[in-house]
Amino acid sequence: MAGDLKDRLRRVLTELMLIPGLSGHEGRVRRYLSKALAGLGIASRSDRLGNLIATLEGNPDAPSVMLFTHMDQLGLVVRKIEANGLVRVERLGGVPEKALPSQQVLFCVGEDKDIQGLIANKSHHATTQDEKYRVLPYPELYVDAGFSSAAEVLAAGIDIGTPIVYAPKVVELAGDRVAGTSIDDRAGCAVIVEVARALRDVPSHPTVHLIFSVQEEFNLRGAVTAAQAVSPDIAIQLDLILATDTPDMTARGDVKLGGGAAMSMYSFHGRGTLNGTIPHPALVQLFDATARAEKLPLQRSAHIGALTDSSYVQLLNQGVASIDMGFPMRYSHSSLEMCDLGDLEALTRLLAAALPRIDARFSLDRDHFIQ
Ligand SMILES: [Zn+2]
Repeated sequence: MAGDLKDRLRRVLTELMLIPGLSGHEGRVRRYLSKALAGLGIASRSDRLGNLIATLEGNPDAPSVMLFTHMDQLGLVVRKIEANGLVRVERLGGVPEKALPSQQVLFCVGEDKDIQGLIANKSHHATTQDEKYRVLPYPELYVDAGFSSAAEVLAAGIDIGTPIVYAPKVVELAGDRVAGTSIDDRAGCAVIVEVARALRDVPSHPTVHLIFSVQEEFNLRGAVTAAQAVSPDIAIQLDLILATDTPDMTARGDVKLGGGAAMSMYSFHGRGTLNGTIPHPALVQLFDATARAEKLPLQRSAHIGALTDSSYVQLLNQGVASIDMGFPMRYSHSSLEMCDLGDLEALTRLLAAALPRIDARFSLDRDHFIQ
C-alpha cells in the first residue's frame, strides 16, 4: 500500500512537471487535474481567472476547509522580436537571472506546436575577464530558436506576449529524489490529488474545497477569487518549504530534504509585497497532534524572503484561519528544483489524517490560545 501511494505520486508529479503552465496560461495543467479528479469521481469547476475548484461535501457543523496549491509556474514572455529572428524577453515571476544563460526553453504557442529555443550564453572564447563573473540582467539576454528573421518567428506562431517556460524536464535521482521543472508547485498538485483519493474512504470529514490556483508566481492573489467563492473557515496552503540542508542554506533553518513534511511558522516578504503568514494556532496544534498520533515527522520553518497566497486569503471576510504546509525543496525557481517523494508521501498522509480531525468541536476561537 505504501509503495502504491509513492508510485502514484511519482507518476502524477512526473506528468504534471512535463506540462507547461506559465502564470496566466495554466489551461493545460487545469485540464489534466480536472481529468484526474474526474477519474476519482470528483466533479470540478473553474472560475473566470482559471482556478480549478472541487468540493467534497462533509459535516456541515464542522468548519469548512480550503486546501489549495498553485498550478502555475514562473517563466518569461516575449517582449520584442528582433529583425534577425532573435527574441527579447520580459520576466514573469521570481526568475533567477544568474541561472538563465544556456537554458533550454519552450515557446508555448499551442499543444503539439510548441517551439524549442535556448537562452544564449556569449561564446566563452569571446568573454572578457570582467564579463566572466557578471550576471547578465535579463534585458541583455536573448532567446535563439533558430529563426533568421522576424517574419519566420511570427510565422511559427510566436508573437509579443507568447509565454516561455524552462523546457519541461524530469530527472530521476538516487533514492526517491526527483529534480526538474516546476516541482514548485506541481508537487503540491500531486499531493492534493492523492489527498482527494484518501478522503473518499474516510467516513466523516469536514467540507473540503480542493483548489488548484492560478497566477501565484505572478501576484500571489489568484487564489483569492476562489476563496471568495467558497468562503472557507480554514485555509491550508501547500507549497515548497525551503530545504536548508545544503551548505549555502544552513543558516536559514533546519529543514531536511527527505526529513518529512514541513509546517511554516512564519513567512514574510518585504520587497514590494509586505505580507506573510503567521499560522492560526489551532492549525499548528492540529498538525502537531496529528503528526504525533500518526508517528510522522513534522519539520518547522520560520524565515523571511518567501511567501504564498495564503497571505492574502487569510484577510478575507472576517479572517480565514490559515497555515502554510509543504514539502522540503532545494534550488527553488531554477530549472532543476529537487524534492523527495518520501516527503510528498508523508505530507499526503499527514493531511489525510489531519482533515478528518476537524469536527464540530474544532475551535478557531483565539481566546483558547492565549500564551
Ligand atoms: Zn510555489
